[in-house]
Amino acid sequence: MEKLRFERPIIKRIETGMPNKFGTKTEYDPISHIDGVAVADLIKKYGSPLFVVSEKTIRKTFNDAKRSFYTRYPRVQFAWSYKTNYLDAVCRVFHDEGSWAEVVSGFEYDKAIRNGVKGDKIIFNGPDKSEADLEKAAKNGSMIHLDHFDELYTLIELAEKKNLKPKVAVRVNMDTGIYPSWDRFGFNYENGEAWDAINRIMLNKKLELVGLHTHIGTYILSVKSYGIAASKLSYLASEIEKKYGHAIKYIDMGGGFASKNTLKGAYLPGTDTCPSFDEYAESITSGIINSEIKPENLPFLILESGRALIDDAGYIIGTTLANKRLPDGRRSMIIDVGVNLLFTSFWYEHKITPAHAFTQHTEDTTIFGPLCMNIDVIRQNISFPVLKKGDQFVISKVGAYNMTQWLQFITLRPKIVLIDLKKGVHIIRESETAENFIRMEKTPEHLTSRQE
Ligand SMILES: *Cc1c(COP(=O)(O)O)cnc(C)c1O
Repeated sequence: MEKLRFERPIIKRIETGMPNKFGTKTEYDPISHIDGVAVADLIKKYGSPLFVVSEKTIRKTFNDAKRSFYTRYPRVQFAWSYKTNYLDAVCRVFHDEGSWAEVVSGFEYDKAIRNGVKGDKIIFNGPDKSEADLEKAAKNGSMIHLDHFDELYTLIELAEKKNLKPKVAVRVNMDTGIYPSWDRFGFNYENGEAWDAINRIMLNKKLELVGLHTHIGTYILSVKSYGIAASKLSYLASEIEKKYGHAIKYIDMGGGFASKNTLKGAYLPGTDTCPSFDEYAESITSGIINSEIKPENLPFLILESGRALIDDAGYIIGTTLANKRLPDGRRSMIIDVGVNLLFTSFWYEHKITPAHAFTQHTEDTTIFGPLCMNIDVIRQNISFPVLKKGDQFVISKVGAYNMTQWLQFITLRPKIVLIDLKKGVHIIRESETAENFIRMEKTPEHLTSRQE
C-alpha cells in the first residue's frame, strides 16, 4: 500500500456547508482523466505542460449548437472561425461535421484550402486582404466580406482588370445596445454607410452581392443584441428586395457567443450565467423570420461561432514547480503554465483542478506561471488545496484562442495532443525546439567573426 502523505496540521475556521450569498460552497472532485485517458500518463508520455483537445467534446458541443439552430430555422450553415483555433486537426473535425471555413487573413485562407475546404465554402473576413488575396478568393468563388470602401474600390478595379465577378457581402456594424460597440469593422448601419455601400455594389454590377454580415463582438452575454442585429440585417435585405428585386443568399450573424468560462470579477460562474445556444438561436431566428423578407427568398443563416464551440474541448495539464510564502504571508504556488501559453487568464478565472485526490484544506493562494514577469499570474486569490512540488493539475476550458495567440517567450511551446473518440491519443502539434528558432535567426558576419 502506498504510504499516505504527511500534511502539516493547520487550524482553520470551519466553513463546510456555510451558505454564501449565492448558496452553499461547491466542493469539487479531482480531474484524473480526460476522456478516459489518465492525466499522469499523458504527462509521462508527452511532457509537461501539455495542451489536450477532446474530439468528443468538439463534436458534442457542435451538435448541440447545430440542433438549436436547425430546429428553429430551415436553412443554417456554420463556418468555423479559424483564428479561434486553427490547428489543422481541430479545423478538420469541424469540417467533418459540415462546417465551412471563416478566415481573416491570406495565411488562414491557404490553411483552409489545405484542409480540403472548397473555395466556394470559404468566407473571407478581416480588414487586411491583399490584392493577391482578393484575386485568389474571387477566382475560387469565395465569399469576400467587405470591410471598407478602399477594399470595395480595389475589388471593383480588380474585377474589371481580370474579368472576374467576385461574390461579396457587406459587413455591417451597428448599435445593438452593446457598448463600446465594435464599430471599426465594416460599414455603419445607423449613419447610412452600409446602405450606401450596398447601393454602390448593386449599381456597379461588377460584383455579385450574395450576403450581409455582422459580428457584434465577442463573449456577448446579451441575447437581445443578436435579435436587434438580425432585425437590422433583415431590414437591409428586404430593402434590397424592394429596390432591386434582388434576393441575397445569406445573412451571416458572425460569432461572439459566450463560452462557459467565468469572467474576472463576475459574481457567478459562467456555467450559471452564460446564455445557451437555444437562447441565442431563438433571438436570432426571430429577428429574421419576423422581418419583411419574402418567404420565397428566405436567406441562409450563417454562424461563425468560435469561442463557444471550442473552449470546453481544450485543456492544459501541467505540474506544480514550487510553493512559496509571499512577504505578506499569502500562500503562492508556481506552476509550469504561464500567461504566454494561457493568454485568456488575463480575463478569465480559469478553473484549475488537481489531477489526483486532494485534501479539503484550502487556503487563499495566488498561482503564478514560470515566467520572469510580475504579471505572470494564472489565478489571483483562489481558495485552493495544497499541491506539492511535482503534483499535477488540469486547467479546463482553454480551447479558444490560446493555441493561436500563445507566445514564444522565455520557454518553448509544448506539444498539443488530441484524444479521439476511441481514447486514441495523437500529437497534433509538436513541441518547439531551439532549432526552430535558430533556423530563423541570422547573425551579421561582423558579429560572427569576432574573436575572444
Ligand atoms: C473572431 C471572429 C469570429 C469568432 O468569434 P468568437 O467570439 O470566437 O465566437 C467570428 N467572426 C469574425 C468575423 C471574427 O472576427
